[in-house]
Amino acid sequence: MKKLPSTSRRDFLRNLSAGASALSLPMLGYAENDFVRNESSGLYSLQPNTFGQESGQPGRKLGIALVGLGYYSTNLLAPALQQTQNCRLAGIVTGTPSKAEQWMQKYNIPKANVYDYKTFDQIADNKDIDVVYVVLPNSMHEEYVVRAAKAGKHVICEKPMAITPKECQNMIDACKKANKQLAIGYRLHYEPFTKEVMRLGQEKVFGAVKFIESSDGFRSGDPNQWRLKKSMAGGGPLMDVGIYAVQGARYVTGEEPTSVTAQFAPKTDPQKFKEVEETMFWQFEFPGGAVSNSTTSYAAGVERLYASCEKGWFELSPAFGYGPLKGRTSKGPIEQPVVNHQAAHMDGVCKDLLDGKKLPDHVTGEEGLRDVRLLQAIYQAAETGRKINLKA
Ligand code: NAD
Repeated sequence: MKKLPSTSRRDFLRNLSAGASALSLPMLGYAENDFVRNESSGLYSLQPNTFGQESGQPGRKLGIALVGLGYYSTNLLAPALQQTQNCRLAGIVTGTPSKAEQWMQKYNIPKANVYDYKTFDQIADNKDIDVVYVVLPNSMHEEYVVRAAKAGKHVICEKPMAITPKECQNMIDACKKANKQLAIGYRLHYEPFTKEVMRLGQEKVFGAVKFIESSDGFRSGDPNQWRLKKSMAGGGPLMDVGIYAVQGARYVTGEEPTSVTAQFAPKTDPQKFKEVEETMFWQFEFPGGAVSNSTTSYAAGVERLYASCEKGWFELSPAFGYGPLKGRTSKGPIEQPVVNHQAAHMDGVCKDLLDGKKLPDHVTGEEGLRDVRLLQAIYQAAETGRKINLKA
């Protein structure tokens, strides 16, 4: 890997601005020399450890403790924390002693920074840990966020923030009371392709957005997993990945929907989907005149965000997964740097924490609460068959 020579840098920026905006790099907080060219593939990427997010305290890294060492922590967050520049993996909270041993060895975590669910509150006395990241089943988010706040730690909590708006409010209140910040795991808000479609929609680059198709689903496996239990997940695919489709329609318009209608699809595997929906659809109306249509499913895959506007269109497909995301507009491809979503997210959040800044509203508990309210309204619309008015 070599640094870009200045002529290639110019080519690179020209490429970027052809499909996107010449302002993209500074808008995203990147500098030109944050990028390197891979000599064999010819592709540009961000330098390892560089997400354009250096804090005002260079070299200082916040210590993060991951709570719950399941799929997301193991396969995405812990590896990403080996690349971050504003934070590091400092501790773990797990109920499984064998996992604790493995993680201590693999990531060089001292025993003093390892907790189980009973000893968790003692994290209050641990100066090595600044941020607690809750990566548990949805129904457990509230308890662990509130306990982390009481322990005097900043908190990152996975999506969906919780199962009910009341739980979300309790989490917001607990963090406010402790004078700590609460971020939700909205990794896409730090992801360049996503930021570009936010800009295209919100700045009306192709004129006003008229309609949106925003859908996220996959074929779920294990019939015994917590994601299929209503008490733990809060619902089915809507809670798990439909939330991305809700986010997509909201961040492309930059508006809050004013009404929702929704429908459950018939269940093709009623035994597996005893407690939660298998597939569902919903439609939002937005105050600026845009309408959106969405699908979410555990029966089959879909991952797409498409916006049709007065003077053209743009889309991401894939739009919500771990990347690389891919985008096109009616004028050509969307060119943006490919980043590690989890590293960019944690670095972005920790940069603001290190700089003593308030986190942007669209990644906090307030945003998590807005989404959970909408998820509940979607269920209500599907259950009643009525159009639900969302105006405050
Ligand atoms: P998982 O089932 O793989 O892991 C859950 C962890 O919680 C496991 O380590 C499990 O041992 C632990 N746990 C503790 N008490 C438990 C209990 N009573 N029942 C079940 N598990 C218990 O789940 P995951 O895929 O890692 O998801 C965890 C959270 O992260 C969820 O809220 C999910 O929505 C979120 N998530 C977010 C993303 C993203 O892209 N932002 C991706 C995947 C998951």
